[in-house]
Amino acid sequence: MVQDVIIAGGGPAGLTAAIYTARAGLKVKVVDPVGAGGQAGNTSVIYNYPGFPNGVSGPELMGFMIDQAKGFGAEIDFGEVTKIQKQGSLFKVTVDGKDYEARSVVWAAGTSPRSLGVPGEVELKGRGVSYCAICDGPLFRNKVVAVVGGGDSALTGAQFLTGYAQQVILLHRRDEFRAGLANVNRVMDNPRITLKLNSVVEAMKGDGLLESLVVKNVKTGEIEEVEVDGVFLYVGSIPNTAPLEGLAVLTPNGYVKTEDDMSTVTPGLFVAGDVRDKLLRQVATAVGDGAVAGWSVEKYIIENFR
Ligand code: NAP
Repeated sequence: MVQDVIIAGGGPAGLTAAIYTARAGLKVKVVDPVGAGGQAGNTSVIYNYPGFPNGVSGPELMGFMIDQAKGFGAEIDFGEVTKIQKQGSLFKVTVDGKDYEARSVVWAAGTSPRSLGVPGEVELKGRGVSYCAICDGPLFRNKVVAVVGGGDSALTGAQFLTGYAQQVILLHRRDEFRAGLANVNRVMDNPRITLKLNSVVEAMKGDGLLESLVVKNVKTGEIEEVEVDGVFLYVGSIPNTAPLEGLAVLTPNGYVKTEDDMSTVTPGLFVAGDVRDKLLRQVATAVGDGAVAGWSVEKYIIENFR
């Protein structure tokens, strides 16, 4: 059966597009390699999503969005879109080797965590090296962990980890944070977070499990070995765009260029959320993108297929 829209990505952008299109009566299929929830679903507390004056747990908020999309009739499946082809007026979308037909596609596949690329990182991944505090934080109860990065993800992750670890060392390569001021102030006020600024990780060491980080002070050149049980890496993201090759225009950084209505150079292909070239990547802006993409899909289907 031909879907009206296949939505790749079950984060806030994809689920909002699903809510709008399913509510409009379209046949909607959402596919996501981990089910749904996106990065927001791995964020402990989101403080700046409107409507929640005391913050909201990421998994709880995403659970609401999943229920809402399903409630309007969207189908949500596990699966990774590996290829998209435009064939006449329809798209052929390959999900884990199986082909589906759709009248339109919303690409809301977000970004993946960037790796640091230092010796030991690959070998010790899952053995003390993590990219997700909410997933792995509980494994480090009363232990010492480091968090690498100076953006909102690193600072939010560091605060979350103080709920488990005895000590959290926040390592950042500069002495100013990229994260928003509210987040920085919460970190400064948290006695269980120790700052190590102007510092970069040069290697990760351990025999089977992570035992220490080789850390260099970029100002003094001094090198020290810091003993930790875990390290959480939040050093930015890489946009997930491989299946869009030939269908959309990317910026030099790999983000997708869209018009204001989320359309791309391929009619019927819309892009929403963090993967899009835009100024601010937040749950609130992802939801906005998803709403516009959903509305644009509805308009596109009416104009081209009804
Ligand atoms: P980000 O803002 O790009 O920050 C990445 C951090 O990693 C930067 O501090 C960067 O340092 C550092 N970094 C990059 N490469 C490095 C390397 N090789 N070695 C050491 N450090 C390195 O990424 P993010 O924190 O994941 O945030 C992504 C987007 O999501 C942002 O727009 C953010 O505001 C948003 N977000 C929002 C919230 C929230 O509001 N609750 C939560 C999470 C994420 P420099 O600063 O020196 O470049």
